[in-house]
Amino acid sequence: MPFFIPSRSKMTTMEWNEFGVAERLMRYVQIDTQSDPNSTSFPSTEKQKNLAQLLLSELKEIGLEDAEMDANGYVMATIPSTIDDSASQVLSSEKLKLPVICFCAHIDTAPDCSGTDVKPILHKKYTGAPIVLPDDSSQIITVEKYPYLKNFIGKDIITASGKTLLGSDDKAGVAILVSFAAYLMAHPAIKHGPIKLLFTPDEEVGRGADFIDFKKLNADFGYTLDGGALGCFEMESFSADQLILTIDGVMAHPGSAKGVMQNAIKIAADIIAALPKAEWCPEHTEAKEGFVHPTNIEGGAEQVKIEFLIRDFDTPTLEQYEQRILQIAENVLQQNPNYNRSAVSIQVKQQYRNMREVIDQYPQMVELALSAYKRAGIEPIIEPIRGGTDGSRMSFMGLPTANIFTGMQAIHSKQEWIGVSDMQQAIQVLAYMVEIN
Ligand SMILES: [Zn+2]
Repeated sequence: MPFFIPSRSKMTTMEWNEFGVAERLMRYVQIDTQSDPNSTSFPSTEKQKNLAQLLLSELKEIGLEDAEMDANGYVMATIPSTIDDSASQVLSSEKLKLPVICFCAHIDTAPDCSGTDVKPILHKKYTGAPIVLPDDSSQIITVEKYPYLKNFIGKDIITASGKTLLGSDDKAGVAILVSFAAYLMAHPAIKHGPIKLLFTPDEEVGRGADFIDFKKLNADFGYTLDGGALGCFEMESFSADQLILTIDGVMAHPGSAKGVMQNAIKIAADIIAALPKAEWCPEHTEAKEGFVHPTNIEGGAEQVKIEFLIRDFDTPTLEQYEQRILQIAENVLQQNPNYNRSAVSIQVKQQYRNMREVIDQYPQMVELALSAYKRAGIEPIIEPIRGGTDGSRMSFMGLPTANIFTGMQAIHSKQEWIGVSDMQQAIQVLAYMVEIN
């Protein structure tokens, strides 16, 4: 059944500005929700549930009656459809189905920088002068360092106080979604289909999609609110494998090793030395170029294992990269007679895949977002993500998911900041996406 994609909107700027997204962000960032990559529990830190609990009560207060937090700390809620029966009959008689859209944000903050006792500061009508953060005067935010900041001269921005990150990644997304829900619930005359809200823990440690109950969510496609500058729209990520190269040397007692021993450590050193140094590696690639990246090496004279990250936007290319590594390793053995009885082998583990492979099958979801950007007067910036996101995992777990901007800048650092108007614009985009006349 094709989806019915609405167009046009009657909303004015004044209305959605009133819904307190800055105030929400400043409250949420004061709750420490840092996740922990070394934890084996889920969520990785119990304290993330403190924010989940608060969201649950706020969503209920707004009127989302089915809001629920599950045992893993995921919060789910529905903004009910405001389409009356006669309208949905027309839709179904025309064999059109309103899509159920999911909007998602993560509640945890990055382990890279402290998230304890965050003191958010609202800088009203930013002057353009350097901002010296009060709790650490060596932390200075300037327009030279962050040219994007120039867009906010005369407007409101929010920073932390110098000792912690701000946590706009991704509490800006959380604040945008709650404000958006509050706006729609206060304006029942706005016609829209069913909308699902999803708040996830542990995104920063790569586990945010692990326990999403997709059946219960029951959405057709989704968008994470977890992007940066105004206008950015992300629907493409790396495809990623891990490769383990095993080198088996030949052991002998060192006292009687002449003509026998073939030292795996020396072979490993030769293989690493044979890798290209000025290309095909993270430090020399950008934009849509892929790479291979040795991340770990361990072993001894008898056996060495080298771990590589394999990355490209084109999934079949990963296999070419893997074969090229094997070829380089085999050449090292062949070119040195002292390595003639040693062996190399590779083992490949799939990590994640380019979400575009899924999203390309849902052109409506891209069109829906981009036409809303345009209606809001925002030029879309579509750039591939040189990494993986929960959205890329969710896309392959059954929910095609792209990523929308929130405004967050200098994330995972003490100089993190965000312009309030970017968050407000994101709310407007969401409203344009869902409204039907
Ligand atoms: Zn994030």
